[in-house]
Amino acid sequence: MISVIITKENIIGDSIEITDKNDVNHLKNAFRVKIGEHIRAVDGEKEYLCEVSNIEKKSLELKILEIKKDNYSTKIQIDAAIGILKNDKMDLTIQKLTEIGINSIFPFTSKRSVVKLNEKKEKWDLISKEALKQCQGVKFIDIKEPLKLEELPVKEYDLVLIPYECELDQTIMKVVKKIEKKLEKILYIIGPEGGFEKEEVELLKARGVIPVSLGKRILRAETASIVVGGILVNEFE
Ligand code: SAH
Repeated sequence: MISVIITKENIIGDSIEITDKNDVNHLKNAFRVKIGEHIRAVDGEKEYLCEVSNIEKKSLELKILEIKKDNYSTKIQIDAAIGILKNDKMDLTIQKLTEIGINSIFPFTSKRSVVKLNEKKEKWDLISKEALKQCQGVKFIDIKEPLKLEELPVKEYDLVLIPYECELDQTIMKVVKKIEKKLEKILYIIGPEGGFEKEEVELLKARGVIPVSLGKRILRAETASIVVGGILVNEFE
């Protein structure tokens, strides 16, 4: 079913008014929606099953038929901290982590970061919204303002994993199986292209972060982000 992303302001009583130029253009000219057709609208929290009730030149009106429960999000909160990667690699990571169902992304810089920061958050938000439409998700991924590795709020999590290629023994599942308390918030931290310095990993270890191996092969950062997200989401879905 066609999805459209809305904000709460678009909802008027039991109708939704679509006025965003791009959305109107997409729905009318690309998808050629017709009156009576069912489409879904999501506002980052809820999903609305709607029927197209009116088509104007610059707007569309949808009648809300049903407000649906969010069945598409993970039961626990899984967040990813990603060492900021070069342009298209970061875009790919954000797109894929949205598809997988990661809740928040913390872009960070660390010793071996190669990317200089310029305004990117708006672009990242746009990428994640487009990805959300495609995967039928409901909750917007929360992309945080970039911060430094040492500023990550690791204490707020029940479990924080740091995939580190120099860790040879621990794996994600070994660690997860050993933990007895109920996990509600998990964070994983993936290094930038150049990886982490030993000292950075040691500092995080001292704060309770657990290094894990992803196998003998060195994965690119974007691959590692997607693999770890996939493993965790599958385990805790
Ligand atoms: N320092 C490395 C590669 C870094 S890969 C080098 O340049 O040779 C980027 C990130 O992906 C790493 O920081 C780590 O978080 C993750 N990663 C990649 N392969 C991994 C593996 N086999 N085990 C654990 N983490 C891995």
